[in-house]
Parts: sequence; structure tokens; C-alpha cells
Amino acid sequence: MAERLIGGVDYPRTVLEFQEWFATDAACLDFLARLRWPDGFVCPKCGVSEQAWRIAGGLWMCRACGRQTSVTAGTIFDRTRSPLRMWFHAAWYITSQKTGVSAQGLQRVLGLRSYETAWTWMHKFRRAMVVPGRELLHGIVELDETYVGGISRGNAGRSSMKVGVMVATEMLGGKRLGRIRLEPSPGESLQLISFAQRVIQPGAMVRTDGARELKRLANLGYEHERHVELGSDVPAHVSLYGVHTVASLLKRWLEGTLHQGISNDHLSYYLDEFTFRFNRRASRSRGLLFYRLLDQAMRTDPAPLPTLVAAKEQDDTNLT
Ligand SMILES: [Zn+2]
Repeated sequence: MAERLIGGVDYPRTVLEFQEWFATDAACLDFLARLRWPDGFVCPKCGVSEQAWRIAGGLWMCRACGRQTSVTAGTIFDRTRSPLRMWFHAAWYITSQKTGVSAQGLQRVLGLRSYETAWTWMHKFRRAMVVPGRELLHGIVELDETYVGGISRGNAGRSSMKVGVMVATEMLGGKRLGRIRLEPSPGESLQLISFAQRVIQPGAMVRTDGARELKRLANLGYEHERHVELGSDVPAHVSLYGVHTVASLLKRWLEGTLHQGISNDHLSYYLDEFTFRFNRRASRSRGLLFYRLLDQAMRTDPAPLPTLVAAKEQDDTNLT
């Protein structure tokens, strides 16, 4: 992505700019239209570009074929009955919090009547944070599993239960870290292998702590470096610097989130949110994060509630 985004032009720099820019639903719609059609409207039916009338209800009508297209069709905002301003506020709130955001927090800030709505929105944005088909990690990638604990479960209070998290970290040379991917451990014997296949480009050099089954990686098209020889007494976290660093940042971030009284079963939500923030940590501006989230939301299919509920059940199992 070579695009260069300018604060105050492409994205709001401050909460004041945010409020000024997005005071009306029409303004929000214009912003989404620019994200969807950066080079001007293109008709999805006949392919004719920049020949459209804007008609009511957020619809664009193609002058060539008469087809009506909704800016938000096929995105997480599809068929929403809530004002777009509310969605924009949700995105701003999510990206302006340093720690994880809970459905309760979102419900409170937006004044939503239903917890379910807040929960659904949070999960729709979560899906936008981890766009499927995103670029696989490449170059040198460290791979390991870590444990996070003290996840509180609903109203049952805090527990000391430890949960496994699989971590893959790009190493850019020296101690510079690139992008990361995180997933809850399903507790299967070859889980790191299948995780690697989901998130790491074949041909990459995968660095592990030397667990034997990881030799299989070599048969799957990866270069494999066992960083600690068997029998060595050097702990894995010393050699796997990247994984160790990410794991401790993740733990601290989760603790900060949970200390704010957020009780949530959704570890995978938090992992995705942490990943989104970590991979954009060079974007110092909150406004730029907000832009990225909306931009990705415009490329993310709507998730009907049944899909989300299935994911919710999955989340719950991951923690039990
Ligand atoms: Zn057309």
C-alpha cells in the first residue's frame, strides 16, 4: 500500500475534527463512499464508472443501466437500522481506547439500549480488524505458544485459569519486530503446525524453540530453524526474542483491560484487537487507526447474527 494519507484531509486528527466531520449521516455516507470508490463510483453491474446519481437512502443509481447500489451493501454496515453516526462513534471509541473495549463499555458510551447490539457491533468491527485473506507473514518468523491467565469469566469473578495463545512474529533483523498473528490454542497436538500454515507464507524461515514435531514444517515448504538445540538449558524465551516480547506486551495489555473491570469471555476478540493495534503501532495517530478500521470494515462482509453467535460459542469453548 503506497497510498499516503494526510491527517486533517483523509482522516480526522482530533476528537473535535471527528465531531465536525461526522455531524450528519450524510457526511458519514460520503466518507464511506470515498473509501468504497476511491477513484469515483463504479457500477457493480455494468462496470461504468463515475456516471451515477445519488438518490435517497444512501443509494447511487447508475446512469448507464439504472442499477441502484447501496454504498454499504456487502459491508459490516449493510442493512443497519442505526444511524451511521452511531457506527462512526463506535469505531472512534474502539480505536481511541488503549486497552480492549468491552461490549458493556460500548453500550454505555453509545447509550445503546441493548447489550446484544453492542456485542454484535463489537464483533462486526472485530471481523474488520482481521480481514480474511490478509497477507501472510514472511521473511523470518518466530513461532511459539504462550499462556495468559486470570481471564475473568462473566459474573463468576476472576479465575486463575491459564489459556494458551499461539504467537507468530515477523523478525525484521536485529530486534526489530514486524507484524504478528495470534490465535487461542485449540489444545491439539499439531496446533502450531496448522496455525503456521494459516498465517505464514511457505518459503519463510520459521524459527521455533526446537519442539520435535515442528520438523514437519520443513516438509510443508518452510525453512525451519530450531533455535534451541535439544539438551540446551537456554530457555526458549531468551532465543525467541520476538515471541517473548509480544507475549509480555499482550499480557500487560490484557491485564490493563481486565483491571478496568471488563469481564469478558471473548479472548479471541481481544487477540484480534491487540493484533490490529500492534500491527499498526507505527500509526501514532488515533485518527489513522480509525480510518484503517472503517476502511477494512468497508471490505468486510456483513456477519449475520447466527454466524456471530456461533463464533461466540466457539469463544466460550476456547476458555473452558
Ligand atoms: Zn450500471
